[in-house]
Amino acid sequence: MQRLQRIATGSIFIGLVVLALKVFAWWVTGSAALYSDALETLVNVAAAALTLGALRLAAKPADANHPYGHDKAEFFAAVLEGVLIVIAAGSIIQHAWFVWQHPAPIAAPLRGIALNAVATLFNAGWAVVLLRAGKEGRSPALGADARHLFTDVVASFAVVAALLGAVLGGALWLDPLLAVAVALYVLFSGWRIIRSSVGGLMDEAPDPVVLERIRALVADHATGAIEAHDLRTRSAGRLTFLEFHLVVPGAMRVDEAHAICDRIEEALRREMGSLVVTIHVEPEVKAKQHGVPVL
Ligand code: ZN
Ligand code: ZN
Repeated sequence: MQRLQRIATGSIFIGLVVLALKVFAWWVTGSAALYSDALETLVNVAAAALTLGALRLAAKPADANHPYGHDKAEFFAAVLEGVLIVIAAGSIIQHAWFVWQHPAPIAAPLRGIALNAVATLFNAGWAVVLLRAGKEGRSPALGADARHLFTDVVASFAVVAALLGAVLGGALWLDPLLAVAVALYVLFSGWRIIRSSVGGLMDEAPDPVVLERIRALVADHATGAIEAHDLRTRSAGRLTFLEFHLVVPGAMRVDEAHAICDRIEEALRREMGSLVVTIHVEPEVKAKQHGVPVL
């Protein structure tokens, strides 16, 4: 967890460097397209700060007020980040409209474009680091950050290339149109981030492949039991909660049934990592002839 927090701090630092370069690129050129890119980076820095706050909160152990832990704080950060993206897109479109109505020649275009390209390279390197860390730590907030940054990098390179073409070809009316294209791209990435975080907040079912693997593990390690049914899972960031009913012969002793439960929990945790398992033991009259039969 400490590692994730260090990465989030790194995001803020890199974001500030990139932001300074991109604002400078916009300042020397006055280009709407470079403005859109700088604004997107401003959102990045704000989002990185939000992520750091969320990670700190998520790392707190469960307490009396939040007995299931604080992991869902990460989803809130991702949703807020999506909202920020929508606001940034609105501001870009507004600025593009202004430049469209008051066209002015772009000053020092090549210097501005070069500055922006250098900043974008910083971002590209950092996005790779984030994506890897988000996957390893199963952190939706870092994952959302990385995807957002990749969107930024792709958009930036496209903008820089197109702006360079426009400047060399003398088609400066392309500048505000490029900014609008960036805004649309940014909106699309915001929508994806909001969508995945809402899925987490609404306890969306896990991937069918993961569910199938859980069922197989239960079936393999429940020897002595009859069946497992009403299996449900939900995930909160890195933590996954799993619960199900385990049907055993009614005459089985409590310690034997408990040993089966412990075996299943062991096997699941060994393969799935941070998993909180709750098993409700029932006698055979409760068997439903569906769910996971144990052979
Ligand atoms: Zn039952
Ligand atoms: Zn126990």
